[in-house]
Amino acid sequence: MAERYDVLVIGAGPGGYVTAIRAAQLGMSVACVEKRATLGGTCLNVGCIPSKALLDSSELYAQAKTHFEKHGIHAGSIQLDLAAMLARKDRVVKSLTDGVAYLFKKNKITSYVGSGRLMGEGKVAVTGSNAEEIILEARHIILATGSEPSGLPSLPLDGTSIVSSTEALAFDRVPQSLIVVGGGYIGLELGSVWARLGAKVTVLEFLPRILPLSDGEIANLLYRSLLKQGLAFHLETKVTGAGTQGGQIVVDAQHQGKDVRFQGDKVLVAVGRRPFTKGLGLEEVGVQTEERSGRVVVDENFETNVKGIFAIGDLIHGPMLAHKAEEDGIACVERLAGMKTHVNYDTVPSVVYTWPEVASVGLTEEQVKAGGREYRVGKFPFTANPRARCMDETEGLVKILADAQTDRLLGVHIIGPRASELIAECVAVMEFSGSAEDIARICHAHPTLSEAVREAALAVGRRAIHI
Ligand code: FAD
Ligand code: NAD
Repeated sequence: MAERYDVLVIGAGPGGYVTAIRAAQLGMSVACVEKRATLGGTCLNVGCIPSKALLDSSELYAQAKTHFEKHGIHAGSIQLDLAAMLARKDRVVKSLTDGVAYLFKKNKITSYVGSGRLMGEGKVAVTGSNAEEIILEARHIILATGSEPSGLPSLPLDGTSIVSSTEALAFDRVPQSLIVVGGGYIGLELGSVWARLGAKVTVLEFLPRILPLSDGEIANLLYRSLLKQGLAFHLETKVTGAGTQGGQIVVDAQHQGKDVRFQGDKVLVAVGRRPFTKGLGLEEVGVQTEERSGRVVVDENFETNVKGIFAIGDLIHGPMLAHKAEEDGIACVERLAGMKTHVNYDTVPSVVYTWPEVASVGLTEEQVKAGGREYRVGKFPFTANPRARCMDETEGLVKILADAQTDRLLGVHIIGPRASELIAECVAVMEFSGSAEDIARICHAHPTLSEAVREAALAVGRRAIHI
């Protein structure tokens, strides 16, 4: 007889594994099917974690080369041991994926290694690496199969010279020259890693600006900062094809109607991701997807048009972010348990882990303007923040957008040191429908970077103290 569970999750990324743990906490019998040998999905294995491990290591390397002297530290000649840096990254990944396996055991979640395929009502076939198939049964099936790189037809990936983020997390030598196609999250983060380690990085972006969905002023500040760090950018540049010449890759493109050509050792294609549904059996059981994006269509309970089949994370609407996938999964199973949980997609923060970091929540200034609402802006630069001065990390600013009438926070955009941590306070205040005045009235420790957030809130009311 087939094993039967209350909840069967397909995919063990941050969406799937968090869903499984929460369902188990709620007393459900849970199984999770994952085709990778390790748990944690894209995020832990080839996404958030390895990229941040390399960003942190390469930032230290760049700091040692360019910043230590200013602090009065003479470290002698700084040597890069790339193999050791990559090995450290792999150890970080292993510790976290092992951690998920431990949490599965602790929560009595049954883990199956293999590809899951929908077989109709309440049934999933799992095919293991030895092609052997088992059938599992569940009252609720939750699809959490994530996403894969979209790629470009004109620039097919070959896995060695023309690559996706997965291979760009593990180059065994620093490329002399790296062409990055796409000036979004991955292009800027991994472009920064290899630029810091010594590669000549050239970013080709189709649109007239980098980070197209972020606040324009903040994206422009990041653009200028990355230029200073030595990255080259070609905006409004459309890639049309690629070839090889003298052992290098040649990328052909068009800029304002003219043919242009770029040459590099490696090409990283980072033009977005699309939902991953291959082999899942969606069509066979009639699960509806959006025609253009391929995303699985769900209702407010995360249920698809097929009863008993749910979907979360990168597979459905919303930003393709790990913390958003987690929120989806928790809300999905809490709703199954009769709770009234919902996800506030308006307060999902986003962070680009470049140097300086960029962190945002809520509306951009462009979106506020387009909505026709009257608003006030408060800004505070890190040059006027004492802690940033002590750290010698004075690039960037905090920008707060508030409703002109109610003072309610509409959006916060930070570019600067540890913006990724600073944004949490702004998310919390927005979650409570708070105002700029609320942040301005909170006592912030001195000297901290967070005082810049308070000063920007004071600046909304034209009363910043330290500027
Ligand atoms: P995934 O993490 O993609 O997990 C899906 C899992 O399902 C995979 O393990 C896959 O093997 C498995 N699977 C697929 N089909 C089947 C099947 N049929 N049967 C069994 N298993 C299957 N987000 C952030 O929030 N912060 C970051 O810093 C960040 N950095 C990133 C860096 C990179 C380089 C990349 C590529 C992504 C990054 N992301 C980041 C995005 C983040 O990784 C995703 O948003 C997140 O992983 C989505 O979670 P998920 O659970 O929906 O899917
Ligand atoms: P992205 O959507 O962030 O950026 C893609 C960029 O490529 C855009 O600027 C787009 O205009 C550009 N582009 C599209 N087609 C192009 C073309 N033909 N030629 C040149 N440029 C082109 O996508 P990504 O960087 O591949 O990352 C995928 C997703 O993964 C992100 O959207 C995000 O959801 C997630 N991610 C998040 C983080 C993070 O949270 N820090 C880090 C990495 C990835």
